[in-house]
Amino acid sequence: MPPTKSLHVTGHCYCGAVTYRVDMPAGKRPRFALYCHCESCRRAHAAALSQVVCVDTTMMTITAGAELVTEFSKPPRGPVRAFCSACGTRMYNAFPAWKPDDGTTPMVFFTNTLNQATMLELPERFRPTGHNYSEECVLDLARLEELLAASQP
Ligand SMILES: [Zn+2]
Ligand SMILES: [Zn+2]
Repeated sequence: MPPTKSLHVTGHCYCGAVTYRVDMPAGKRPRFALYCHCESCRRAHAAALSQVVCVDTTMMTITAGAELVTEFSKPPRGPVRAFCSACGTRMYNAFPAWKPDDGTTPMVFFTNTLNQATMLELPERFRPTGHNYSEECVLDLARLEELLAASQP
């Protein structure tokens, strides 16, 4: 069933200079919401995985610090990876060569930069529904579970 409400969330980079807003109209869902395990994301984020949500470019607005947003694309066909040039936080990926038949302009943003309250109660539409490049996963889930269980009060 398509969601009946529009969704509005905000986020920011580590230093706070770059802020953004994502506005998803009623009836719309992300193209995908996934955990990406690919080697390039892993290196670009310096993290075991990245949590990505694919929306249309029209849905994400940089609301402050746009002058700090730097785009980098690794030849020959890496996505455009944008980051805050002051603190290095990854802000979005764009895909200039990806032209879907439906005429949209997909991009991904990273739910881990949403405001903390939003992240702690991530809207259902932004929750990952699967994995991308699971064959490249380096996360030791069993160990993570074990440590989490051991640290519960
Ligand atoms: Zn920053
Ligand atoms: Zn990836």
